[in-house]
Amino acid sequence: MARYGMIIDVNKCNGCYNCFLACKDEYTGNEYPTYSAALPNDSKPFMKMIEKEMGVCPKVKVDYIAMPCLQCSDAQCVKMATGGEVYRRPDGIVIIDPEKAKGRREIVTYCPHRFISYNEAADVAQKCTFCVHLLENGAKEPRCVEGCPSGAILFGDLDDPNSEISKSMAAASTEELNPAYGLKPNVVYRNLPGKLIAGEVIFADSQECAKDVKVTLKCDEGELATTTDFFGDFEFKGLEADKAFRITLELDGYKSQTIDIKTDTDKNIGEVLMSPA
Ligand code: SF4
Ligand code: SF4
Repeated sequence: MARYGMIIDVNKCNGCYNCFLACKDEYTGNEYPTYSAALPNDSKPFMKMIEKEMGVCPKVKVDYIAMPCLQCSDAQCVKMATGGEVYRRPDGIVIIDPEKAKGRREIVTYCPHRFISYNEAADVAQKCTFCVHLLENGAKEPRCVEGCPSGAILFGDLDDPNSEISKSMAAASTEELNPAYGLKPNVVYRNLPGKLIAGEVIFADSQECAKDVKVTLKCDEGELATTTDFFGDFEFKGLEADKAFRITLELDGYKSQTIDIKTDTDKNIGEVLMSPA
């Protein structure tokens, strides 16, 4: 038996909202008996999109975070549903029974992430079903995954060691949304937003933008490196909060620069001048 899951890579999401629209298209006006009632035209789809702003003006960035139900292995919604109105299938998909959940407005409170909403038209609590009606009819992936043009959502069987998602899990670490809840989600993330450090490098002699300067960010646990772009800009995203970092800027023929910085907030270092050696 499969155990379905997703890995959502925030860095690959370009904010096109195609996953959101695909979900809306699949469920608006369409009923899937035993899994979900039809959503009315004016309701939000089950896929939630969060826009997270970061940085300090004028170095501001936005990350888009796609949020379906996390299909938790230790789901609070299942534990709270003592009458079986929310249950976990053997393949890991958590379902709200549309018959048993009719008129049960309190079910909305069962999810600490607030991924359960109330369908006023059908008078029932609902959430993302991982498009189980499609999977049962031979689809390889849910609508939101199919609709994503940048491959930001990887879907598959976490219990199959040969699946793409299992190989990806083994190759690199993932993060949970709100790990403090302890729900063991089967939807996990990469590159969730953290603190941002940005700056720009200028040649002191010519006042031109300094391209291809090597910028290294170090902390006790390791280092990251990048180079400045055509405009002399650099940035490091997703950094741990309240951490001390040392930034080193190096370019052949120029004096190296070192800057100590702490991520108590997002930081814009501003202009850094590189002087000839
Ligand atoms: S994310 Fe919320 S609704 Fe989905 S399984 Fe977990 S606790 Fe239940
Ligand atoms: S898996 Fe299906 S129901 Fe869930 S967010 Fe994606 S499209 Fe919507």
